[in-house]
Amino acid sequence: MAMSDARYKLLGGGQYPSECDEDAPVPPALPVPFCRCEPGNQLAEVKQSRHPKTAGRAFYICKWNDSLNPCHCLFFQWIDGPDKFDPRIRLFPYYRSESWAFNEFRRWVPPPLNPPPMTEEEKQEAAIYRVNNPPKCHCGVRAKLQRPNIGVPPKFTPFFRCSLKTRDGWPACDFNEYIYGPRSHWSTEEEVREFESGKKPWPCTTTPSLRCKCGILATKGVVPSELGYGYYCGNSYGEYWEGRTCDWEWFEGRYELMLQLGRTKEPWKSRDTLNRKLKIRKDYQVTLPLESFLSGPVLQDLRREYGKKAAEKATLEDCIVYWRRNRSKYPRPLTDR
Ligand SMILES: [Zn+2]
Ligand SMILES: [Zn+2]
Ligand SMILES: [Zn+2]
Repeated sequence: MAMSDARYKLLGGGQYPSECDEDAPVPPALPVPFCRCEPGNQLAEVKQSRHPKTAGRAFYICKWNDSLNPCHCLFFQWIDGPDKFDPRIRLFPYYRSESWAFNEFRRWVPPPLNPPPMTEEEKQEAAIYRVNNPPKCHCGVRAKLQRPNIGVPPKFTPFFRCSLKTRDGWPACDFNEYIYGPRSHWSTEEEVREFESGKKPWPCTTTPSLRCKCGILATKGVVPSELGYGYYCGNSYGEYWEGRTCDWEWFEGRYELMLQLGRTKEPWKSRDTLNRKLKIRKDYQVTLPLESFLSGPVLQDLRREYGKKAAEKATLEDCIVYWRRNRSKYPRPLTDR
C-alpha cells in the first residue's frame, strides 16, 4: 500500500537505516526499544538479516514489518555488529515475515556438517539398530518413529520425531531424523554453484515447505473441508483425500473465515458454508460421487447409523459429508468420469 509523504515521515521514513546499511550504529541490545507505531508502547521485535552485505546480524524492527501489513513503521536498529556477519545463513530458508520478541528470539547458528553418504545396505543396518535404540530428541526423550508410508513403492521414508506433544498436538521440538540417520542440512556444492550463478534463487528467498500436524510435507490443493484452496495432510492421495493421517488443513483467510462462521447463527451458517463449498467445487472442479450413489448406498449407510429420522431429513450435502467421513467404506471408482 502506498504511503503519503507525510505519513512516511511520521513513521520514521528517512530517519532509520535498514539492513543494507552495514555501518549504521550498534546500540546496546537492551532495553528493547519502542518502534514508531501508535500507541507508542509497541516493543520492536528481532530478526536476523539475510541481506548479502549484513547476513547473520540480528536487528530490531517494527513487529508489523510484513510488507503486506500497511500499519507498520520504518523503525530499524542493529543488535549485532559486523563481527556477527555470517553469509552461510543465506543457504537456509526462513519465513520472511517472521519476527520474534527479544526474549523469544533464537539465533540461527550453523547446523552440523552433513552426514556422510550411506549405501543402501548401511542404511538398512542403521535402521534396524535405530528401531531398537531410538535416538533422543532435543527435549531429551526417546524419539518416536513415524511411518507415513502409503502405496508401493513407499513415497516417504520413515522418520523419527519428538514424542512429546504441545497442547494442540504438534511435536514439542523440531527434531527430525530419517530412520537410518540424520538428514542433510547443507545444500550440496552443486546447488551452491547454481545459486551463485543465478540459475536458482537463493534459498533465503523461499520459505520452508509447510508440514502438517503429523510432520509430513503438506500437499497443496482443495482442502478436505472444501472451504478453501491451500494445504492439508501430506499423507493424502487420490481425488478423495484417502490415507490422511491427520485433519490439519490451512488456506489463506481460514482463520478469519472460522471466526466469521463462529459468529454466524444457523441457518445462515450452514447456508454460507454450503455456498462456499459449491463455489470451491466449481472453481477447482472437485470430483464428487454420482448423485445416484449418494442417495443410494451412502444414504442407506447413514440411515443404518443414525436412524430413519435422520435419513429422512438428510440432504445431498449431508450424504457427501457422511461419505467423506467414511471414505474407507466405499470402493472406487465412485464416479464415471
Ligand atoms: Zn512500528
Ligand atoms: Zn523433543
Ligand atoms: Zn498429517
